[in-house]
This record gives sequence, structure tokens and C-alpha cells, in this order.
Amino acid sequence: MRQVAVLGATGSIGMSTLDVISRHPDRYRATLLAAHRSVDEMETLCRAHQPLHAVMSDPGASAALADRLSDLSAVAVVSGAEALDALVADDTVDSVVAGIVGFAGLRPTLSAARAGKTILLANKEALVSAGGLFMEAVRQGGATLLPVDSEHNAMHQCLPVASDGLPDMTDVEKIVLTASGGPFRGRSRSALEAVTPAEACAHPNWSMGQKISVDSATLANKGLELAEACWLFDRRPDQIEIVVHPQSIVHSMIRYRDGSVLAQLGQPDMRTPIAYCLAWPERVDAGVAPLDIVAAGRLDFEAPDLDAFPCLRLAQWAITQPGGMCVFSAANEVAVAAFLSEDIRFIDIDRVIEATLKEVDLLEPDSLDAVQALDNKAREAAARYVASELTRLKG
Ligand code: NDP
Ligand code: MG
Repeated sequence: MRQVAVLGATGSIGMSTLDVISRHPDRYRATLLAAHRSVDEMETLCRAHQPLHAVMSDPGASAALADRLSDLSAVAVVSGAEALDALVADDTVDSVVAGIVGFAGLRPTLSAARAGKTILLANKEALVSAGGLFMEAVRQGGATLLPVDSEHNAMHQCLPVASDGLPDMTDVEKIVLTASGGPFRGRSRSALEAVTPAEACAHPNWSMGQKISVDSATLANKGLELAEACWLFDRRPDQIEIVVHPQSIVHSMIRYRDGSVLAQLGQPDMRTPIAYCLAWPERVDAGVAPLDIVAAGRLDFEAPDLDAFPCLRLAQWAITQPGGMCVFSAANEVAVAAFLSEDIRFIDIDRVIEATLKEVDLLEPDSLDAVQALDNKAREAAARYVASELTRLKG
């Protein structure tokens, strides 16, 4: 029986994970559920899955959950980020699903790495901001790192396994990272001026949380995924080719030196990569309908439009700079939150990121404190830019 900690249990990744787990009560048990402040959702999940620990990072939410679950003595409700860091390293956890959104997911994921757990990584922002530190913690802790992100999961599936259990890159020429292009694919920059958060979150193929949905619409997500692929598969950015594939059926490809290209295909349903990571190196049923390749009909591929979607170009530059992706990711989080609360326009998101990259002194963070300090500086600079835009728009 594998004991699984689901971080971000109330989110899109968390719920898909719990759906797969509930299909295999003989193999998996969710022993820890963690979220921020969604008390109603967490109560329902705790009653269904009866974890040993339920962690809310928000103290008020934690008190409210404890109150709601006072009749369930088997579930211990715990409060705060530090308690979560300790619990993911506990003996009651074998696998950790890193499904918290944003930089907030870094500390518990690092803790899982140091404790040598099997990490099912969805939270790409943590890896992108602290890649060197994180990969070192994985090595030193003897952790197993499995990518949940559908593209990186596809790459993992298309690569042989070396004797040390890691993906064998020996004969790989290039990685082909696919992008759906998001809901605004084909639009010009000027046609993006008035798009709303609701339109940006209406992804044509995937159902996901709000932040990653906006990231998909701006192509910032592909920039984050470029950095993610570099860390996970030890590649330089020029060894990764980005291709738009609007149907989201091919989830990425590996080009080998003999001219072969291996692709992984599947429905756009995160339960497939989650089930792959839970069962690896075996396979289990994910509850996903079979892919009807005839109904799908065609697979299209095109180059990304970097003029209409400059976030990807900014990420391609930031990735070459020390600490650049930490600053990129922090500025993007601030900008996306401001867009979702309708303080800035869609086309201001890349402006916030660009202004932040110009303002903050870029340097390679060599410790967790340094990563946190750089992330903070970037957030402050991005927030200042958002505030000045607000003043300008109101004036
Ligand atoms: P959601 O917004 O749906 O869920 C986010 C989860 O994180 C919620 O459970 C939320 O809890 C929790 N959370 C937020 N802040 C904190 C915090 N400070 N401490 C503890 N928990 C917190 O996001 P997604 O599931 O869409 O995405 C999660 C991660 O997975 C992201 O990094 C995303 O990039 C990545 N990913 C997602 C994919 C998808 O299909 N959704 C695909 C590939 C990667 P609460 O509800 O209480 O606020
Ligand atoms: Mg992805």
C-alpha cells in the first residue's frame, strides 16, 4: 500500500489525483491532504478519504476545518506551512503529489526531496524558481522525481530508463515540447487588448486552475515548461524545440540521433500522467476514456507566435540569465493575479514581466533564503509596476 500526500488537494491536480487513488483502494491511500483555505472542499475530501493528517496553511481555515471535523477523530487537522514541511517527510508518506500552485509549493516539495520521497511534480513554479537547489536536494535525498506536467510526462514516457533509474538521454538529439496555443491562438496582439479573465480561463482542451489557464493563454506556461524540461532532463534551452499543436493529443516528442521521433499520445486528461506517476514503472487504470484517433481526425503543428505572445520570448531570454526564471515566475504570478482581479489588461502581463526583469538585479540564488529574497524583490518590483499602471489607467 503506497501512502500518498496530496498537496493542493482541493485544486484541479489534487482532485484528479484523488480520483485515480479512489479507483485503487488496494494500492494507494491518501494519508495527507493539504490546501490553503478551501474549508468546504477540504471537509468533503477528508470525509471521503479519511487521511491521517489534513493541513491548511491558513490558520483561520485550519481552525474552521478542525471544528467541522470534530466528529472524525481519525483525521488530525494541522495548521501552517512549517507543519506541512515536517509532515511530508514523515514515515506516513511514501509519495508526494506536488499540486500546490505557485512559489508557495517550493518549501514542502523541497522537504519531500530532502526526505527521499517519490515526488510527483505538478508544481512547475517551484522547480523553475529554485532549479539548481531543488535538483541537488533530489540527488542528495535520494528522491525519485516523476513529472506530472503532461508534456514532461510524455517525454519521460518516450525515454529509456538508465541503470540508475533516471531517464537515459544518451541518444537524444532534441526534445520537442508541444503547446496547445491556448484560447487565443491565431489572434493578433491588438485583438488581445480587451480579452477578459473568463475568456482567458476557457482553455479549449484542458480543464485547469485559473493561474495555469492564464499562463497557457499568454504562453508564459510554455516558458516555464521550457525551464522545467531543462532541469528535469538536463538539457540546454537550444536542445528543446517548441511547437504549437492545437489538438493537445500529442503531449510532446523525443527526436533520436537515428532520425526516429517518439511521441506520447493521449486524451487531454491529467489523470493519465498522474496514474503513470503513481504506478511507475507499472501501469494502472486512470478512468480515462480511450483515445479515438479516427474521431480526432488530424494532428496539426505550427510555430508559436512570439509577437502576439511575448511572454515566451521573455522566458527564452530569462532562462539564459542567472536567477532570470525566478524573477520571471514571480513577476508572472503577480501579473496574473492582477489580471484575474481586473486591475491590468491581458496584454499588460508581459509588460509587468519585462519591466520586472529589467529592474531587478539578476543573480544566481545559492540558498533557499536567496531564492526567497529574489522572489520577494521581483514581487515587489512587479507590484510597483502594476500600481503605476493602475494610476496611469485611472488618470
Ligand atoms: P488550482 O488553482 O486548481 O489549485 C491550487 C491548489 O493549491 C489548491 O488546492 C489550493 O488550496 C492550493 N494552494 C494555493 N496556495 C497554497 C498555499 N499557500 N499553501 C497550501 N496550498 C495552497 O491549481 P492547479 O491544480 O491547476 O495547478 C497546481 C499546480 O500544478 C500548478 O503549479 C500548475 O502549474 C501545475 N499544473 C497543473 C495542471 C492542470 O491540469 N491543472 C497541468 C500541469 C501542471 P485552496 O483551494 O485552499 O486555495
Ligand atoms: Mg503542461
